[in-house]
Amino acid sequence: MLPQEQSRAPRAYDVDRIALNELVRGSGLSFSENSKSWIFECPRCFKSKKLYIRKSDGRFVCWFCKEVDGFQGKPEFALKELLGLSVAILQKKLYGLESPQASLFLDIQLRDFFGEDDEVDGDADEIAEQVWPFDYYPIEHRHSARGLKYLEERGVSLAVAQFYGLRYSPPERRVIFPISSGGRLYGWQGRSIIPTSYEDEQGIVHETPKIVTTKGLKKENLLMFSDRLVGSPHAVLAEGPFDAIKAHLCGGNVATMGKAVSPAQVRLLRNSGIRRLYLGLDPDAAAEIMRLCREFSSDDIELFDLRATAEAGDLGAMSFEAVLGRFQEAPRFGLGRVIAHVEGDYDLLVRRIVRARQRRTR
Ligand SMILES: [Zn+2]
Repeated sequence: MLPQEQSRAPRAYDVDRIALNELVRGSGLSFSENSKSWIFECPRCFKSKKLYIRKSDGRFVCWFCKEVDGFQGKPEFALKELLGLSVAILQKKLYGLESPQASLFLDIQLRDFFGEDDEVDGDADEIAEQVWPFDYYPIEHRHSARGLKYLEERGVSLAVAQFYGLRYSPPERRVIFPISSGGRLYGWQGRSIIPTSYEDEQGIVHETPKIVTTKGLKKENLLMFSDRLVGSPHAVLAEGPFDAIKAHLCGGNVATMGKAVSPAQVRLLRNSGIRRLYLGLDPDAAAEIMRLCREFSSDDIELFDLRATAEAGDLGAMSFEAVLGRFQEAPRFGLGRVIAHVEGDYDLLVRRIVRARQRRTR
């Protein structure tokens, strides 16, 4: 049975188009326009005619910055930098609310920014959509039995696997986790269900990667399961697919697909309208946690500690209920708490610094 979520996600709010129009036209800023977008010099990269704000819904993109740090998203974040107003004030004007729960868009249909008679911007490359290879079977398919068995051994039921659209590749012997948003498939990660190293008769050890990602996909520009953020007042940020899935009962559960959280992922989280961020990353990523506290401090997004218990090691090894328990009791990160954590692992930290220095001087 599919575990029930805590609460229903609130409805997403739409931007007030009259207010948006007034803000842009009354701004005193110079801009050009086509039938679909207002076009500005970007306040971040200072490149002219690179920042497009869509008239229909206010979604914006800077064609240059989006490749660098994912500068695209809800209008308040572009207008904040163009007009120097606070996000809170802009949100009140745009949504008529104190703290809106706007939905997440990845703005992948970038061509929607251009009018019919426009020349399409040369930089307007979209993240290519993918189709499933024919031999990646839906998890309920009879050819996926081995994959399903593996998932069940890791505590993931058929219903949960179906909810996340998991598949199985018999030739690769990998469980496949889709990387998709709003019904569009951008790639996937495959997790081997068999040991990834073996010794042959000559005693030579062969290794294959445990996790593989679609070739050419910039996974640092995406979050796995990002649809979970739509309408969610919070995000649970985990590292791998299993970690994220185990936070299903919390809602807002996404995976970074890597150790570090990229600038584009920070921006995606920020632009999704969340107010609270639960960090379920590697228990000893103290430096990363401090960096994220700094990154989000200017946006009034509160950070909470949702790391796995020491016994479990990572969220993926815990039960759904245990992760929910951690979520409900998660302490808030303040600078004091981060430092306390570092002090707790002080010996470890010192050893690590010494080791890093030794490596450098070698
Ligand atoms: Zn820019």
